[in-house]
Parts: sequence; structure tokens; C-alpha cells
Amino acid sequence: MREECGVFGAFNCDDAGKLCYLGLYALQHRGQESAGIVSFDGKNMYVVKDMGLVSDIYNSEKLSYLKGNTAIGHVRYSTTGSSNINNIQPLYSRTSKGKIAIAHNGNLTNAYDLYKTLISEGALFQSTVDSEVILHMVSRSRKLSVIDAMKETLANIQGAYSLVVLGKEYLMAARDPHGFRPLVLGKLGDGFIVCSETCALDLIGAEYIRDIEPGEILFIDKTAGLKSYQNTVKTKPSFCVFEHVYFSRPDSLVFGESVHNVRKEFGKRLAREYPVDADIVMSIPDSGNSAALGYAEESEIPFEFGMTRNHYVGRTFIQPSQQIRDLGVKIKLNPIKSVLDGKRVVVVDDSIVRGTTCKRRVQAIRKAGAREVHLRISSPPVNYPCHFGIDTPKREQLIAASKSIDEIREFVGADTLGYLSIDGMLESVSCKASLYCAACFNGKYPVKVKNKGKYSFESRKIKLYAQKNGH
Ligand code: AMP
Repeated sequence: MREECGVFGAFNCDDAGKLCYLGLYALQHRGQESAGIVSFDGKNMYVVKDMGLVSDIYNSEKLSYLKGNTAIGHVRYSTTGSSNINNIQPLYSRTSKGKIAIAHNGNLTNAYDLYKTLISEGALFQSTVDSEVILHMVSRSRKLSVIDAMKETLANIQGAYSLVVLGKEYLMAARDPHGFRPLVLGKLGDGFIVCSETCALDLIGAEYIRDIEPGEILFIDKTAGLKSYQNTVKTKPSFCVFEHVYFSRPDSLVFGESVHNVRKEFGKRLAREYPVDADIVMSIPDSGNSAALGYAEESEIPFEFGMTRNHYVGRTFIQPSQQIRDLGVKIKLNPIKSVLDGKRVVVVDDSIVRGTTCKRRVQAIRKAGAREVHLRISSPPVNYPCHFGIDTPKREQLIAASKSIDEIREFVGADTLGYLSIDGMLESVSCKASLYCAACFNGKYPVKVKNKGKYSFESRKIKLYAQKNGH
């Protein structure tokens, strides 16, 4: 199953459930389809999860229900029609190692094989989420302690995972040996926070300590404090460059670098690679903001607000049907005629995936009076699907897979089109370019992917009426 997600965990913090709620608020951009929080008060686990946005799901009554000083939470968006309540994370279960809840960001590339083995051995699956294999494997492990069982399990799963795991009096955090997705550790009073991005630490006033390292399994409990273990599988890191291009929030530190600064550098390099004579530089808000500022600074062409954004709608790209998506494009952004009228405009956006949103934006900018539209994209053409946790459509739907740059320019209706080069993108991240995965741009997948796109475990679903209350 292809998913985009955000995870959050709080250990030994007053009102851990409420902190999770705030953390998920800050991570809402990583998934808007469903959200869940599981808390633990040393005896019972409390669960509140539902479809929808964090702000719609939780109210003071539900937050008071989440007792205990340890909790984990998850926001999720999935693509493969598996929007059912059984799939909302965190997943939780009674296991041979006690009650465990788990929240996962990423895609396990060998989950289907593991699922088939587990099912043949009699496992009973409750969801079609790849992360459920982890719960089964931990429970079935002959190791006595939960940490040893988790180490054994993680040595046998492949692909991308940034995990937070909650159990009796402990919190675990783990990142796959490639470190595809981000995961950071923070401190709040005597407690600890683990979450996808530092913007969630900022919101709750926690201090950023460090990234969870690729391959690290961190066990936090009251007796030993923090204990760090390393996955027995060793490999070179492959941080996802698309986190910097689009996915993460600009106010976060991701893989140790400011997302805003990296995006600004993308824009500067883009200005050097594709200069043009123009009157103003504008961004497609918000995804193009930081790169447009960089382009304007480097080119010395004034930055202007050419479009205004309605903040009360979700990400248009991820609405389920094309018709709704098309409408969403209009609801979200409106050009400012007085800024654009008669101008030669450089328009900066972060990426072109299918090309349909982009085409509508260019049309709207022209309709508002722009004389020339020079489209600049602060990443290379998206040419291959991601199998490690970013929702990119199948290759056939990626415009760059079937059209040349000039055909794309014609399709979107721009006067000129320039994409940042792969080298330009990778040189913009100050830690070494070779530490990044750019498979969606260059097709070099760091892990062999079997059963491409087949992460969902069943073709026929068990359909359950999604009640609004009671879970
Ligand atoms: P399109 O022109 O239809 O290819 O849409 C491109 C827009 O979608 C860009 O402005 C991106 O900011 C946004 N986008 C790119 N990747 C994703 C993603 N994985 N999820 C949601 N939106 C995305």
C-alpha cells in the first residue's frame, strides 16, 4: 500500500495524549485522510482514531479519554482505496510481549512475502496495512524481551520505516537502515518526544536533540533511560530528497538541514541554470515559496505575490477523484490580477507530477493578464514511482515518463520551462549528495522492489461500515 504518513510519540510527559494531538496538528501536511492516537497509563491502552483531519476528529472529551503519560500518534494518507477504519494507525494488539501499539511511516517492500508466510502459519490479520506484519513478527518471536523481538523483526523487514512503538512503560523508535524517512528525538522536561519533523517539537516547546540514526532502534523506559541499538543489517543511507523538494514543512530540520534553506538553494541554482528576462518572480503557494525567494534573490528580479491561497482547503493533489481534484485546484489558489497584468512572469513551483494542476495554474496566471509565463521547477522531472512512502502515481501517469520537456512545456502552456538538474538538486543539500535517494527522478532504487505496487494484502476487502464513534 502506498502511503504518506507522519508519526509522533511522547514518553513520560504529562498529558501525553494531548501532546500527540498537537504534534499531529503540526504533522497534518504528511497525511490528511485519517489520524489516530493510542495512550497508555501503565495498565490500560486508550485509543481514539477516525477518518478525517486531526482538528475534526478530536475534541476535549476524546482528548481527556487518552489517559497516561505515554502516547503515540499517526496521520495518514493512502492511495490504494484502502480507506477503511481497520487501516487507521496506530495499529495495536495484545501480543506475547504485552500490549503493543505501532505507528509507521514508509513502505515495507517485502511485506507481501512476509504476509504470505505469516498467513500460512495461521496468523489472523486485522488490517491490510503492511505495518501489521511487524506486530505479528514481534509477537511470534521466540526472544523473551520486546526489544530483542523487535531487533529480530527489523532485521527481517525491508524497505522504508520510521516507527514509533508504545508498550507497557516504554516507547521505542526505529528507522530503517537506509533512513528513507525522517525521525527525530526531542526532550520535553523529564520526558522524550520522537516525531517525523522538528516542526512538531517546536509547537509543543520541546528541544530538538538529534535525528534517530538510520538503522537505530531506540528503547526508552524509566529504568534505563535511552538505550540505543543498531540494526544488524548495515547499508549506506538513502535519505529521501523529495522530503526536501516537497513533502516536509519549510520550518522543519530534515536530515539535519533546514528545509527552507535547502529549497532556497534549489531556487538559486535554478536561476543560474535557467535564467530569463522577466519583470517579476512569483511562487505557486505554498510549495514553491522558498525556491521562488531563492530564484528572485539570485536573478535580482523582484519577488511578488502573484497568487493568494485559501488556507481552508486540504492538499488538492490528494483528493480521490479527478473531478474533485480539478475543482480543488480552483478553490485553493486565485491569481492577483493587479500584480500580473501585462507582466513577464517567472513562476516557480516545486514539482510536476501528472501535469494537470500545473496546467490549470498556468492558464489562470495567463487569464489574469500575464504577458509571458516562464515556468521554473525546483526539482528534476518526476520520472519513476516511489516505493518508499511518497505517493507518486504509476509511471504511466507521470507526465515526464511519456513527454519530452518541450512537450510538457506545450502541455502546460508555458512560454519557457526549466527544471532543476539532478546534480543541481543533490548539490544543494549540504550533506553528501550520495547519501540521498533520488529514485523518483533517476530510477536508481536503493532497494530491489519485488511485487511493485503490491503492498495491499488482499484484493477482496472485508468491508466494514465506518461508524463515526466508538473507536
Ligand atoms: P501536477 O501539476 O498535477 O503534477 O501537480 C503538481 C503539484 O502537486 C505540485 O505543485 C506539487 O507541489 C504537488 N505534489 C507533488 N507531489 C505530491 C505528493 N506526493 N502529494 C501531494 N502533492 C504533491
